[in-house]
Amino acid sequence: MATDQIILVNQRAAPFLATEYHDIVCRRRDRCDCAVKESLGPDNKPRFKKLPKSFHIEAKSKSRPLDRAVLFIPQVRDALKASPPWLKVEEIPKPEKKATPKASKSKASKAKTEPSTEA
Ligand SMILES: [Zn+2]
Repeated sequence: MATDQIILVNQRAAPFLATEYHDIVCRRRDRCDCAVKESLGPDNKPRFKKLPKSFHIEAKSKSRPLDRAVLFIPQVRDALKASPPWLKVEEIPKPEKKATPKASKSKASKAKTEPSTEA
């Protein structure tokens, strides 16, 4: 399945920073992008701590493509609801690479281009 992504537009003259919380973002996108930090606990057993990614958007700039799950981050929700809105959601137009929408059949029957027509 294609990842469902969006772009956030920072409309203020201040940078925006948010954390992709594991419980909020990773759970919704069914993928964990957190870094994992290993450290020794007081009992000398290794502990694995999840370090969620964060993203920041420069003032009056657009973010990189982000998973739609970031819309559930409290900072992002607040920023979208603020008046005037701090952030704006921009849909990413789907790239139209496939000429044939229903290409669910065998790959063997490709487009009927015959390369041997050059004289
Ligand atoms: Zn995670």
